[in-house]
Amino acid sequence: MCGIVGYIGGKEALPVLLNGLKRLEYRGYDSAGIALFGPEGLTVHKSKGRIRELEEKISAEKLPGMAGIGHTRWATHGEPSDINSHPQTDAEGRVAVVHNGIIENYGRLKEWLISKGLGFKSETDTEVVANLINFYYKDDILSAVREAVKRLEGSYALGIIAAGESDRIIAVRRESPLVVGLGKGENLIASDVPALLEYTREVYYLEDGEIAALYRDRAEVYNGEGQVIEKEVSLIRWDAAAAEKGGFEHFMLKEIHEQPRALTDTLRARIRTNTGAAASIDLEEIGFNKSWAAENAGRVVITACGTAWHAGVIGKYAFERYAGIPVDVDTASEFRYRNPVFDSKDICIVISQSGETADTLAAMRLAKQRGAGIIAITNVAGSTLAREAGLVMYTWAGPEIAVASTKAFTTQLACLYLIALKFGVLRGRIQDTDMVKYIEALEAIPAHAETILSGKANIQRFASLQFNKNKVFFMGRLFDYAACLESALKLKEISYTHSEAFAAGEIKHGPIALVDTSTLIVALCTQSSLFDKMESSITQVKARGAAVAVITWEDCKHFDGIADEVFRIPKTEDGFSPILSVIPAQLFAYYCSVLRGLDPDKPRNLAKSVTVE
Ligand code: GLU
Repeated sequence: MCGIVGYIGGKEALPVLLNGLKRLEYRGYDSAGIALFGPEGLTVHKSKGRIRELEEKISAEKLPGMAGIGHTRWATHGEPSDINSHPQTDAEGRVAVVHNGIIENYGRLKEWLISKGLGFKSETDTEVVANLINFYYKDDILSAVREAVKRLEGSYALGIIAAGESDRIIAVRRESPLVVGLGKGENLIASDVPALLEYTREVYYLEDGEIAALYRDRAEVYNGEGQVIEKEVSLIRWDAAAAEKGGFEHFMLKEIHEQPRALTDTLRARIRTNTGAAASIDLEEIGFNKSWAAENAGRVVITACGTAWHAGVIGKYAFERYAGIPVDVDTASEFRYRNPVFDSKDICIVISQSGETADTLAAMRLAKQRGAGIIAITNVAGSTLAREAGLVMYTWAGPEIAVASTKAFTTQLACLYLIALKFGVLRGRIQDTDMVKYIEALEAIPAHAETILSGKANIQRFASLQFNKNKVFFMGRLFDYAACLESALKLKEISYTHSEAFAAGEIKHGPIALVDTSTLIVALCTQSSLFDKMESSITQVKARGAAVAVITWEDCKHFDGIADEVFRIPKTEDGFSPILSVIPAQLFAYYCSVLRGLDPDKPRNLAKSVTVE
């Protein structure tokens, strides 16, 4: 998820690697490391914390060498620590590996490698890769990598060097970016273009399954069968600032576009479809086995702040619908000052992207003290929440840089759906046939998100007509209402538009007094059984002169001719709709912000991680 660099050429590798890693710092990371070929052979140096700390650690050592690999880590498997930092080596120290991504079958591979007598020092999935490559390594690292990757499931970009072969670096990727930089008398790899720009603008973009071997004077690319591929050289025209954002104008837009990837990573590792039996959800990571769920689950309490609280509201509906379990949901800032009553059968789910949100931490400590079992959902391994909660389910969204949360939100939803469905199965509420249907629906979500993103020009056009509106209200029922809460917050946060969310049935009990010809109403209509009810709410606000846009299913004609504008999204299970319907709202907020001349990445008065009360 974070940064990879690799260098082979005529320069000293160390400064090139450190410089490259610094160019990737904007991506966020928790530790850094390098492996170099020097006079003493292959040496590895790594440290938890900033690149500066790594530099301090190696400052007294002379580390010459013309080839090496470097890494900034965003921990997914194992907390940030010196040992878990990359490069990871195999048990014999022959192979060093840097890795971005997640090896989904690492647990099974690790067991198998242990059965072969290999020991492990770290908690990472990456160490498994190093050992697996070494398992196949006789005298040709390229073919060892080719054999090893056949057994890997999940996403990875890998940079690999082997102690006996200082004349080359190997790189391979699947579903995680990796670029080969083609220099004069030197070649590089990087997970992202900014690390290369100082050295070259000519690159190969590696495709899934392609393996590159970089030598000082050439770079060869092979397919999975070992045949050489003629790659097209691409020329990078971006400047450094544009390159950091992957060519997007802002981090927020980049992160909105990262949602299909983030959702795939978060969902796929927890869904088991290849066991021969019916598809199932594996939540061993949060200690979820039958007896735990059956014994402990009297009630679920969800607490969080801001966007994460909105995920919690959706979680409440999901738990009720799929697991038939009572749920309380409350903002952490309120919860911590209530007198919440728990018994030992209650489970408290706390959600925070950063894992450092002060109110959420306080709420978690209170629930724990009162005897609730805690499950944390967070994006940051080793965060205070992750350390204190005991049971943690990670969103594998990768670092989120824009202040307004997007991919962290949708991946929080993915986690909540997985837990709710698992609960439903364990409590006998969901039959196998329904589970197959739900799992299919979840697996299709990333592709549906991609479809919505491919239609973003339509949202941009709509925003160009509406961005000056003073009042924008979102309305919906049930899951749609919860998605409205998040949609209104996004618009508020980054475009400073007065936007609110209303449960559609409540409009007539007060908010309708605010509706006039200057109001835009966005109605989320994805709960098929409530289309008629939504129609009456829309008619009521239209009668007061509001403009109405509807977000509904691709095949729904119900609102044609009723709404002024209809946006269609791919159909999914009704209860999963917020994970998709929020994406047009994220894009709308983004374009309104840009059209108003604001910086969506740094909205006024807001901080990314709210570590104060
Ligand atoms: N899954 C690996 C780890 O936790 C790689 C993380 C990354 O992409 O930085 O070490």
